[in-house]
Amino acid sequence: MKIKSLLKRNFNHQPRLNYPDYKSSILRAPVRKKISLPSTISEICGPVFNCDIIGKYDNDLTLNFSKNKSSPLGHKILIYGTVKDQFSNPIEGALLEIWQANASGKYLHPNDNTLAPIDPNFAGCGRYITKPNGSYEFTTIQPGPYPYPNRGIEWRPMHIHFSIFGRSFGQRLITQMYFEGDPLIKLCPMVNSIPDEKAISSLISTLDTSRSSSKNILAYKFDIILRGINQTYFENKKEGL
Ligand code: FE
Repeated sequence: MKIKSLLKRNFNHQPRLNYPDYKSSILRAPVRKKISLPSTISEICGPVFNCDIIGKYDNDLTLNFSKNKSSPLGHKILIYGTVKDQFSNPIEGALLEIWQANASGKYLHPNDNTLAPIDPNFAGCGRYITKPNGSYEFTTIQPGPYPYPNRGIEWRPMHIHFSIFGRSFGQRLITQMYFEGDPLIKLCPMVNSIPDEKAISSLISTLDTSRSSSKNILAYKFDIILRGINQTYFENKKEGL
């Protein structure tokens, strides 16, 4: 059987691995040149996630850790969009996992030793499996910026971490979503390690007042494009029919 290949990654879109302005990248970066391996069946097929693994409130971070239905502190937001591949095919069944700081910029994690307070009603983790049209949505709290040691103390822009499994391991993407209009984006060395302006703007969600509602929710749209599988679709009949 001939294996269809995943498209080669465009490394001009990826962050530079050794970027001295982001100090910890220096030690992390590999010293040898990357080698591209051809796709094998294990990168193309699977994983396949069953919607049964998702709980009722897994995509509502304002409820999935709240005690006695108490709301977490901060501004409630809706994050939504679609997951597609490079050929604009919607990706159904992609597992999205997100994690973020609370409204004060604090992670519920033992390594977070900043002075900001923990929110007892907010864990900052959620997940979702995309619908047949590739769509997803999360209700959450606007994350706060937070300080971290780099060139002295610097501040991360408001962001949400995303991990996305597509239809195959080879499509996996781990990235961060930023918020339109945040002045800290331009100052962030992690953002600036990405050499392509277009790639940077693809990480910035856009405010969508049409999906914002009177229930104290602002909406942000964030579409995600995963690496495509280089294949020709010769029939559009659903499998199993
Ligand atoms: Fe973070």
